[in-house]
Amino acid sequence: MSMERFANQNVLELVAYQPGKPIEETARELGLAPESIVKLASNENPLGPSPKAVEAITKAACDVHIYPDGAAFRLRTAIAELCGVEFDQTVVGAGSSEIIELVCHSLLNPQAEVVAARHAFSMYPIMAKLFGAKYVEVPNKPDWTHDLEGFLAAITPQTRVVFITNPTNPIGTVVTQEEIDAFMSKVPDHVLVCFDEAYREFSTNPPDTLKYVREGKNVIILRTFSKAYGLAGLRVGYGVAPANITAMLHKARTPFNSHSLAQEAALAALADRDHVRKTVENNAIGMRYYEEAFTAMGLEWIPSQGNFILVKVGQGKKVFADMLAKGVIVRAQDGYGLPEWIRISIGTPAENARCVEVLKEVL
Ligand SMILES: *Cc1c(COP(=O)(O)O)cnc(C)c1O
Repeated sequence: MSMERFANQNVLELVAYQPGKPIEETARELGLAPESIVKLASNENPLGPSPKAVEAITKAACDVHIYPDGAAFRLRTAIAELCGVEFDQTVVGAGSSEIIELVCHSLLNPQAEVVAARHAFSMYPIMAKLFGAKYVEVPNKPDWTHDLEGFLAAITPQTRVVFITNPTNPIGTVVTQEEIDAFMSKVPDHVLVCFDEAYREFSTNPPDTLKYVREGKNVIILRTFSKAYGLAGLRVGYGVAPANITAMLHKARTPFNSHSLAQEAALAALADRDHVRKTVENNAIGMRYYEEAFTAMGLEWIPSQGNFILVKVGQGKKVFADMLAKGVIVRAQDGYGLPEWIRISIGTPAENARCVEVLKEVL
């Protein structure tokens, strides 16, 4: 008997998240060595993890027969200190993706609505759909930034979750402190405002959103160790919110949702400010390189404050496939409603040069 007929209809109708193409899969398909593939598709840290994080993982490896600390005491203590909040205003997850899931699991149902920007991170519509909620997209302003006035207009009595991605992925634009403050002064309190700050470390003047946690507003700040901290493979991220909200999320999570090695590595990575600084410097150099290269090639691109850049290439899917055939993995954007664009993650200088060379060859 086919089990699907008993399945949750929302699950059956989901279109699964499309990750960046893995290096090993690409190498296998092209018959090339994995070392020869350049992957600039998932906004990973091109410098790798902090050496201190690697050391911490190695040390902790001998204890993996023991369950992790489900309360993530030391990591949450460090996060609370970093953010200037209380311990009980923090929650750790298997990537900030899991925190997004916990928020949606806690607050969404078929009567609820979610508001986010057009071309936003695809986990938001996936999670809205999973819990049967209505997903409302607000078009961006002509400069590709979130239209927070439009967000306010889209909020109804049924709205429960609003996602503000800052900087936003895949576009890379930011909203300012003034725009956020104006939004927060008007947003009704039956809405949880999620500030997704996965790329915060790369932006030049990140707004203060933690003050809204301290004021007890219905907000959650989502951050991750996957991007600037270089720990994407370990799956660790966190949320900061008023304690009544984190308490709700702690109920919704599985008891050991953040792994022991992930907790140790995240602690070590948090302490290694030098690695983050080098990462941000490398990113700024690479960003300038791409901007200049695209301008010289006569291609349109969008100024980005993330660790990736969108460039308009015509047939994005074809350019992606042609570049892939030459061993450079970028990200097509048709799934994000941007079929003429590709997104390139900033790599090392050598990776960036190879990427531009291959892009020139295929255009
Ligand atoms: C990468 C990313 C995340 C976090 O990913 P995790 O690896 O699950 O922490 C969250 N939001 C956005 C917009 C992202 O691009």
